[in-house]
Amino acid sequence: MLRPIVKFGSEGLQAPAAPVTTFDAELDRLIDDMVDTMYAAPGVGLAAPQVGVPLRVAVIDLSGGRRGGELLTLINPEFVEREGMQLEEEGCLSVPGFNATVARPSRAVVRALDRTGAPRIVEGTGLLARALQHELDHLDGVLFLDRLRGIKRDMITRKIRKMQRAGRW
Ligand SMILES: [Zn+2]
Repeated sequence: MLRPIVKFGSEGLQAPAAPVTTFDAELDRLIDDMVDTMYAAPGVGLAAPQVGVPLRVAVIDLSGGRRGGELLTLINPEFVEREGMQLEEEGCLSVPGFNATVARPSRAVVRALDRTGAPRIVEGTGLLARALQHELDHLDGVLFLDRLRGIKRDMITRKIRKMQRAGRW
């Protein structure tokens, strides 16, 4: 089932999410809905706060669902290692229509639980390292806009506020 994606300006998007403690049918439903919502958007990553659920759950699929076996479900993820730096254009389903160049680690290793509660390690370079950092940021209430230099961030947030006032956001 698709869930509405929360946009920039909603409070829950900028608050830290709570760890998952119960692995039950409700969590399964949340994950399934997040995957459907990410693929439909279409996007390559989605965090639970983006569908209004304040839990530390994120899904990533760099193929956008076009290739099997690339879906990552990350519950209570934490960085084990981060190194290097890459500068690439980035966007966010919660900030539609805006892209900016963001500095991210070029390699990241994350420890997380899967949907059954089993521990796993995910290692990524390039786009995957970027996606891991972007989605884990969401779980801490951090948006890619927060990673931009002041001038660029102000320019985008000013445009968004204008759209909000005009009822177009
Ligand atoms: Zn995002």
